[in-house]
Amino acid sequence: MPTAAPITLEGPSKQELDQRLIRASYRRLLRAISKGNINAEDKKQIREAFEFAMEAHSPQKRKSGEPYITHPLEVARICYEELGLGPTAIVCAILHDTVEDTPVELKEIHQKFGPKISKIVDGLTKLDGLYNVESPQAENFKKVLSTLLYDVRVVLIKMADRLHNLRTIDIMPRTKQLKIAAETSYIYAPLAHRLGLYNVKSEFTDLCLKINEPDLYEELSQKLKETQKDRNKFINDFIKPLKQELDKMAAPYKIFGRPKAISSIANKIRTKNVEFDEIYDLFAVRIILDVPVNKEKSACWLVYSIVTDVHRPIPERLKDWITTPKSNGYESLHTTVIGPGGRYVEVQIRSKRMDEIAENGFAAHWKYKEVGALHNVYDHWFDSIRDVLETPHNDAIEFLSDFKSNLYGEEIYIYTPNGDMKVLPKGATVLDFAFSIHTDVGYKATSFKINNKLVPMGHVLTSGDQVQVIVSKNQRPTEDWLKLVVTGKARSRIRSALKDDQKKLASHGKEILLRKLKNNKLETAENVNTLVKVLNFKTKLDLFTAIAEEKIDVADSIRTFDIDKGRLVERKSASEEEKIKSDRSVRENQENRSSSILINGEPGKQYAYTLAHCCDPVHGDEIFAYVTTNSGVRVHRSSCPNAEHLMVNHGYRILKAEWSDMASETFNVVLQINGIDDGPGVIERLSHHISTKLGVNIKSFSIEGHEGTFEGKIGLVVNDKAHLNLIIKALQQLPGVSSIQRIDKTLA
Ligand code: MN
Repeated sequence: MPTAAPITLEGPSKQELDQRLIRASYRRLLRAISKGNINAEDKKQIREAFEFAMEAHSPQKRKSGEPYITHPLEVARICYEELGLGPTAIVCAILHDTVEDTPVELKEIHQKFGPKISKIVDGLTKLDGLYNVESPQAENFKKVLSTLLYDVRVVLIKMADRLHNLRTIDIMPRTKQLKIAAETSYIYAPLAHRLGLYNVKSEFTDLCLKINEPDLYEELSQKLKETQKDRNKFINDFIKPLKQELDKMAAPYKIFGRPKAISSIANKIRTKNVEFDEIYDLFAVRIILDVPVNKEKSACWLVYSIVTDVHRPIPERLKDWITTPKSNGYESLHTTVIGPGGRYVEVQIRSKRMDEIAENGFAAHWKYKEVGALHNVYDHWFDSIRDVLETPHNDAIEFLSDFKSNLYGEEIYIYTPNGDMKVLPKGATVLDFAFSIHTDVGYKATSFKINNKLVPMGHVLTSGDQVQVIVSKNQRPTEDWLKLVVTGKARSRIRSALKDDQKKLASHGKEILLRKLKNNKLETAENVNTLVKVLNFKTKLDLFTAIAEEKIDVADSIRTFDIDKGRLVERKSASEEEKIKSDRSVRENQENRSSSILINGEPGKQYAYTLAHCCDPVHGDEIFAYVTTNSGVRVHRSSCPNAEHLMVNHGYRILKAEWSDMASETFNVVLQINGIDDGPGVIERLSHHISTKLGVNIKSFSIEGHEGTFEGKIGLVVNDKAHLNLIIKALQQLPGVSSIQRIDKTLA
């Protein structure tokens, strides 16, 4: 007979509940590490870190109400179980928020856990007191990224931290969620890709999609669920005849179908303009071979030959990343074959080792103790990061954008006239190539030949090109060059050359200025500062440069000031008048418009906001407000192509914005319509349908036809998002129309 549970009048106290949660988290971590080979001494240190961090975080709670320590414990588990890191990383992950969020000081960590751990924890601690910088967020990224060269684990733990925060983000307010998603897709996801952390990267991008476009995410995951049965059947039909042949091989293998990430499906729908049903590669078939390292390559090609005997291949889709691995270390053999019913199927063939590297990137290299290989794989990239870190940047934002350009997706292979190969990102130009050979070759490059034909400096390379660079010692980089390159290395090198030039120019300008000031007995530092401020220059250097380039005339400028006992004094009248005028125009503008937006919960009217033209928000769109430096508050759509940049670099200027219910406004939107041009009637048919049948006002209409297709841009006036969706649906059903999209512009 079961014994009756003791009857208690009161449930467990709050403290007891907290204790239970903490113990459960810690046990979860211990269970994970018990599967591996972590020795007793390491376990002891993990326990010490746990007790130390629990004590430090003790009264702190997460937003969800759980005790804070559950977060670092979970981050530690992710580090071990999902990223494949070792005991040092576990200890650091447990300690990662102690210095930042609690009174604990770094020197205590140093005393208790030693120099190595304290250095990593330091790397994970945000910089303090960043109040006077343009972007504290960018400064913090810069700090984390700088540690990459010292110890990659800092960045990997940061990834695990971000992963846990994203997995538990539901509890956060919407604006915070958008900010975190923007940061994640701007830097964390590309970085995960660059480090070869495939699983982390796809989870990042999926979670971002879920935050940014919840409807689309929901729709796609629903559709994936609905079609799963059919898909499984198809995969089985595809695999069955293959298995019969593969079984004849000596090597053990695994074969299975693997679904693609939801975000990558969403991407296809967007970029290729296709419907869900038309996407053939919702999954890939993977074959993993258990063979020793020295047999890997031949075994993979044997399997390739079996696969292509059973299913007909599409020759141009063969990719051999075993002979030439991707620069993030990815190795695999890919081919696309025609499966049952004529459907294309991608098949990925690789060894067990390659598979682990593909899934866990950096950490797997460690696991396989491929110290030598590890260096080969990442050294080249580390060099380029070192370049970016060592180049002087105006601010952390510039740094971040240079750094980001080192995190590309696809790569191309380019050859020198001697047959040496260089790996460059897709989109790289001949000028990038010149810088990849040597900085001086870049600086002195004047013309370029591809396969003996001259091409312009901004010419975009194609994989397999053989490039010859012609140099001249009189060549100098100019500002325009920055627009002709995409690699971080080329950009930072050009910037540093320009900076040298600017320094020379500035010192010349400075001489001119000081001489003129001296002639007027005005040569004080204060007067120079006044000039910088009143004439609207960012820095003294900019003022000096403008003088040297004769963009401003010192004597003329001085005349616009009053002089009071050797001091330049700004003449008030003119500028004040202007200010009053502009205030009035903003006010008039406001009064003409009924406000339907709440900013930070208050009527938007008070903020003198305007709707951003890059994304033209309409009532019902997900929106946020951004405080610009000189044109007031601007309201963007959350899915605006500029949103990510704004949130990543200027998160502190983002305000919450929402639509209030009492909208009586109308909104302008621009739609892009693509379709088949079946004769002259297209324009009439579309415009007739829109204005007469749908009763919608057309503001602008332009259409262009090429080779039987047309592309039109239609400016419309709509009431709200529901109205807009109805219009889009109605237009989609018109014969000849193949796709309709709202237009977003990226700010130049
Ligand atoms: Mn954290």
